[in-house]
Amino acid sequence: MPVAGQLTFAAPRRAKPPRHLADLSPDERRAAVADLGERPFRAGQLSTHYFDHLLDDPQQMTDVPAASRSRLGEALLPPLLTPVRHLDCDGGLTRKTVWRLFDGATVESVLMRYPGRVTMCVSSQAGCGMNCPFCATGQAGLTRNMSAGEIVDQVVAGARWLRSGELAGGTGRVSNVVFMGMGEPLANYRAVVGAVRRLTEPLPDGLGISQRNVTVSTVGLVPAMDRLTDEGFTVTLAVSLHAADDELRDTLVPVNTRWKVAEVLDAARRYFDRTGRRVSIEYALIRDINDQAWRADLLGTELNRRGRGWVHVNPIPLNPTPGSKWTASDPRVERTFVERLRAHGIPTTVRDTRGREIDGACGQLAAVSP
Ligand code: SAH
Repeated sequence: MPVAGQLTFAAPRRAKPPRHLADLSPDERRAAVADLGERPFRAGQLSTHYFDHLLDDPQQMTDVPAASRSRLGEALLPPLLTPVRHLDCDGGLTRKTVWRLFDGATVESVLMRYPGRVTMCVSSQAGCGMNCPFCATGQAGLTRNMSAGEIVDQVVAGARWLRSGELAGGTGRVSNVVFMGMGEPLANYRAVVGAVRRLTEPLPDGLGISQRNVTVSTVGLVPAMDRLTDEGFTVTLAVSLHAADDELRDTLVPVNTRWKVAEVLDAARRYFDRTGRRVSIEYALIRDINDQAWRADLLGTELNRRGRGWVHVNPIPLNPTPGSKWTASDPRVERTFVERLRAHGIPTTVRDTRGREIDGACGQLAAVSP
């Protein structure tokens, strides 16, 4: 059962998703293929079909002997995601998809086409245990962690639609991946790190997306942030701050009762020190709650206290969610907030509200069954 109304770190015990090629490193794939009594180089063929040709039907893999196709396919390319429905908007440039997983759990992904880039926003957990009151995902609690394969397969699906040209805007490629869908990525650390590797390993071992174009967003799980720092990745880290003082953040991001603003910002700064990647601070602007000019000043001061040029701020106009009494800030208040931050020398860009009308924007993903 999903757990609502409290912080949940440990994912509920559930049957594991079937093992998939995308759960495994190239070495592990060779070992898995050998265990099936097949020649190890078949692992490379399967990887090429999945990551490069974007195939998942073993019968189309004509360089694999017919007798082996089903065996390899069943063992390493089980279907992981079944589309329940697509919702398109922005003239087809934005597509939210509800997926059903093998055990009936549902998650959502959002593909967004921009001039010069295509961003896939993926889920890393079914539901979320962080219980932030302004986010729809948190309201139903955490159902379970997703596997690396289930995370990667969302991107592979998007890559397929783009290759086939079935989306508005013609053919294209997924250039960016953001772990900003359902779930807290750093609460599902192993699978998320595995997924980052699969997404960014060069073809045909992985999808060949640049690490710089991958963003992992977190509520601020400090030990896991430090672990990520030590991975040696060059992915972008985003931190959902939403308030620079503990009193308010304790209520907006309940995990703040465990790791305080100062600890989270220190960990973010360590990430920058190690990776040289500018950290992104997410700040949903909620009318009369966290949008006061003095709070912009406090945020600017807290960031500058830790140095210059290491961070930028991404205010997000609050997107509506069911049952929430909160709304987005007045546009003038938002402008003032941005100007104040910039006056502190903090690069600040307001995030767009892509997908709002299909409940596909930040904080709106709930995957309510049809
Ligand atoms: N759990 C991770 C990944 C989700 S990213 C995290 O929180 O960072 C989704 C982003 O949208 C987070 O910054 C989240 O705080 C923000 N968000 C949640 N609800 C929102 C809402 N109603 N309006 C705008 N942003 C919201």
